[in-house]
Amino acid sequence: MATRSCLLAWRIPRTEEPAAQLGKKVAVLDYVEPSPRGTRWGLGGTCVNVGCIPKKLMHQAALLGGMIRDAPHYGWRVAQAPHDWATMADAVQNHVKSLNWGHRVQLQDRKVKYLNVKASFVDAHTVCGVSKGGEETLLSAEHIVIATGGRPRYPTHIEGALEYGITSDDLFWLKESPGKTLVVGASYVALECAGFLTGLGLDTTVMIRSVPLRAFDQQMASLVTEHMAGHGTRVLRGCAPERVEKLPGQQLRVTWVDLASDRKDAGTFDTVLWAIGRVPETASLNLEKAGVRTNPVTGKILVDAQEATSIRHIYAIGDVAEGRPELTPTAIMAGRLLAQRLSGRTSDLMDYSSVPTTVFTPLEYGCVGLSEEAAVARHGEEHVEVYHAFYKPLEFTVPQRDASQCYIKMVCLREPPQLVLGLHFLGPNAGEVTQGFALGIKCGASFQQVIRTVGIHPTCAEEVAKLRISKRSGLDPTVTGC
Ligand SMILES: Cc1cc2nc3c(=O)[nH]c(=O)nc-3n(C[C@H](O)[C@H](O)[C@H](O)COP(=O)(O)OP(=O)(O)OC[C@H]3O[C@@H](n4cnc5c(N)ncnc54)[C@H](O)[C@@H]3O)c2cc1C
Repeated sequence: MATRSCLLAWRIPRTEEPAAQLGKKVAVLDYVEPSPRGTRWGLGGTCVNVGCIPKKLMHQAALLGGMIRDAPHYGWRVAQAPHDWATMADAVQNHVKSLNWGHRVQLQDRKVKYLNVKASFVDAHTVCGVSKGGEETLLSAEHIVIATGGRPRYPTHIEGALEYGITSDDLFWLKESPGKTLVVGASYVALECAGFLTGLGLDTTVMIRSVPLRAFDQQMASLVTEHMAGHGTRVLRGCAPERVEKLPGQQLRVTWVDLASDRKDAGTFDTVLWAIGRVPETASLNLEKAGVRTNPVTGKILVDAQEATSIRHIYAIGDVAEGRPELTPTAIMAGRLLAQRLSGRTSDLMDYSSVPTTVFTPLEYGCVGLSEEAAVARHGEEHVEVYHAFYKPLEFTVPQRDASQCYIKMVCLREPPQLVLGLHFLGPNAGEVTQGFALGIKCGASFQQVIRTVGIHPTCAEEVAKLRISKRSGLDPTVTGC
């Protein structure tokens, strides 16, 4: 392939447009290796096919179950019908397929050459793409961007794990209900999947080896799992699976050990879902042929602030790059800025600080900035002030929903004007609430400015602007009145 200042990429999520629009000749190489269970999908990467999009839609399906239970309290006469997985899966999968098509059309419209080939390096300027049928294409480029993401990790030491278990790569494409499910893992993917499966009425257990949501504020993580346990998910803490066997029917028998007591236990499930982390997709790239260095522990590609790898004209963005948040919007923004820099439009670098995110568990957890632990570790306990509140969403009152875990905390510097270091919100629509406050925090908002912001009444978000009780004061943080 001829190179006219051309940028060659393994899928850059939704950033292809800028590079091509900025006058670059661009090719995108994307290839989906089927999961060990044989699940395959189309163009668009993890987020579209086996991540954010199907996950959020299934979370929504589960939330609707709660609304159906609330509805009679508000005067609706609705029948309590069971959930039909096949109908939901069909609708979700059709939406995903429409997104696959949309991506293809966008690439075409923007004159980006798309090749459905599996790529690996031949040398630092050449990539070999192999099609499903084994046909090889050699491409050379001035700049190469690696955005190969990651895939779910399977345990290697557990008998029957690979043979009988599935991962999130399969769950969203199941045509039939997974039935009684054991979710193994403590990541947000594990909790989100366990949460929506429970919400859809399935008997769901989540098995956590040590702590849930390790990278998040631990008080919030505890409230998330407490809420799940109180709303139907069986949570097995401090347990590790040892073996998965197939019973004479279709069911699976899982044996596990309680790590504290060393006691063995077993249970029978229809589905075992491994959600124990993700492996970066670097193994088959032949990075050594190009001289691109990886972290030997994580397998991720080492990058600098320019997203450049150890080879100056080869870049890595998104989940495959070391030290980057594994989130779609960060991958997109990093790619967009990189494309602009490569075309000489700007020298702006991606700012990875104060990236907001939300865990879509049944009670959603939105956060931005530092956890309480990280703030204390960085600034010292004496210099950190935490404001907090337990509140009751108005919409919970009529159906008398339990609001015990609806909690907000704002982590600030203690010295006036009390710069906000982090915000943690547990409650309905956490993503919508957190997004707006993220702007303020990014702009350097102080606690004084937040409390001078007029709330929107009656909302859950206004509770953030109404925070007054500090943890240090020891006063009861329960919100009373309207
Ligand atoms: C269950 C789940 C839920 C998630 N929910 C959220 C969420 O709510 N919000 C959020 O922000 N993020 C979420 N994420 C994370 C998000 O999906 C990722 O951060 C994002 O997709 C990373 O984008 P990427 O471009 O780095 O990689 P990917 O989206 O993984 O894209 C990489 C692409 O490269 C292809 N590829 C790999 N190797 C090769 C090769 N050798 N040749 C050619 N092509 C190759 C892959 O098949 C894939 O299509 C979720 C992830 C999961 C698994």
